Amino acid sequence: MEIALTIIFGLLGTAIGSFLNVCIDRLPAGKSLVYPPSGCDACQHRLSWLDLFPVFSYLSLRGRCRYCQTHIPQRIFWVELGTGILFAFLYWHYKFTPELPVSLFYGCILIVLSVIDLEHGLILNKIVYPVIIIALIINISLPEVSLHNFLLGLLGGAIGFLILFLPALIYSKGMGWGDVKMAGMIGLMTGFPRVFVAVLGGIILGGLIAIILILLRKKSGKDAIPFGPYLAMATTVALLWGDPIIKWYLHLFTM
Ligand SMILES: [Zn+2]
Repeated sequence: MEIALTIIFGLLGTAIGSFLNVCIDRLPAGKSLVYPPSGCDACQHRLSWLDLFPVFSYLSLRGRCRYCQTHIPQRIFWVELGTGILFAFLYWHYKFTPELPVSLFYGCILIVLSVIDLEHGLILNKIVYPVIIIALIINISLPEVSLHNFLLGLLGGAIGFLILFLPALIYSKGMGWGDVKMAGMIGLMTGFPRVFVAVLGGIILGGLIAIILILLRKKSGKDAIPFGPYLAMATTVALLWGDPIIKWYLHLFTM
């Protein structure tokens, strides 16, 4: 039963992933998410029920449009597959608890923000601002809610914002204000003290990858490297395992 539900969540995730692709394509251009219905960019053919499980149709059609054979970008496939794996994993991790819908929603937001940052070097305000409001609402509506938890959420948001505020002020080329606002949003999602795992983890991960890319001469020290995806990865880790990581870290100093 558990396995069947995990697979169902995985399939649901690939279908949601196909909607996330629409968001990734249209939000930066300021286009409507609902109209026109999604279809092939080249021949405008609308998607049929055959395309409902996009990962499989992508594989069986070898990455081409069913109707006009135009190549479909690989990103479409990776976002669908990634969302499917994430949904299956989150169900398996949380089962039917209140954390499940919250983490599914946050996961979708982080995927859309990351891919848009990778492709355009932008963190969109029109995603971050509404999610800040939604995260505040989630923080007061979770079942174990108390003023205490709500304040921990606010404190997390403030800390996330402040950790990146100074670097952005000093080194404005490497870090944009979009990253700073995203860190504030992430702090509200994770709360205090998990915000440290999310934001410091993102800085360490982004820094390591930047060093590797520079050593491999794929990037020079002057290139801007999108920071959103690393913040998103560290946030996922913080949401899933933030508390044990912090316990382990504090334990190092109390031996
Ligand atoms: Zn087509």
